[in-house]
Amino acid sequence: MRALPRNEPPPMARTLTPVPADAPRIFRTEEELARLPPSERIRYRLVAAGRRYHANDNISAFVKDGELTELKAEVQAKLQEVLESLVIDTESDHNTNETAKRVAKMYVEEVFRGRYVPMPAVTEFPNVERLNELMIVGPITVRSACSHHMCPIFGKVWIGILPNEHSNLIGLSKYARIADWIMSRPQIQEEAVTMLANELQERVRPDGLALVMEADHFCMHWRGVKDTDSAMTNSVMRGAFLKDANLRREFLSLLSRKQG
Ligand SMILES: [Zn+2]
Repeated sequence: MRALPRNEPPPMARTLTPVPADAPRIFRTEEELARLPPSERIRYRLVAAGRRYHANDNISAFVKDGELTELKAEVQAKLQEVLESLVIDTESDHNTNETAKRVAKMYVEEVFRGRYVPMPAVTEFPNVERLNELMIVGPITVRSACSHHMCPIFGKVWIGILPNEHSNLIGLSKYARIADWIMSRPQIQEEAVTMLANELQERVRPDGLALVMEADHFCMHWRGVKDTDSAMTNSVMRGAFLKDANLRREFLSLLSRKQG
């Protein structure tokens, strides 16, 4: 046991500054939260847990049953205001009558779904055959949206895995499901590739992991420079792919053959 320094009062004896009666309340009960809009309720839980909630973070652990339906209604109401601010007559214009509702549904249930739902179930198998040869999965088609403009991103991902005897193997279709879950969020391509690499590293625990993503960013085509054929390529190399130039070359050459 550590002796307390002399001259210093024991911790219990320190006086606490009383909280003024009109100070804003920090802690709220679930009952109080229930009266708030769903986004505030979810944000309150995230902040209380000290969790980040950037555009590409998954926040499903903080969303309770039924709250996504409420959230969709809240997003719809706010999108309706955006349309009004854009001076679009959504009442007489039958094309835009239900646009706020459609876009809210598209955001919450489709294109940004990867923020609000937990990762799809993935069964892992022990590597009983002790496979230790380079495995390439791809091209997997990926769809995302850039977090700068919320414009679509369309692309392909290739995954290279060098398993070891302790690696967990996952079914081929599962790579696509994990990729879809990560990409169905407003993303930045570099961060998306790293997030996918982290998820696979944790599940599969291979000796080496390589990822290449090539994608078209519609914010480059539709707006801005209006360039029609610019694509962006990012890669992540880990473990054996970092150390072994031959392995890296083998992966990249197989990948260019598959691409053609
Ligand atoms: Zn963009």
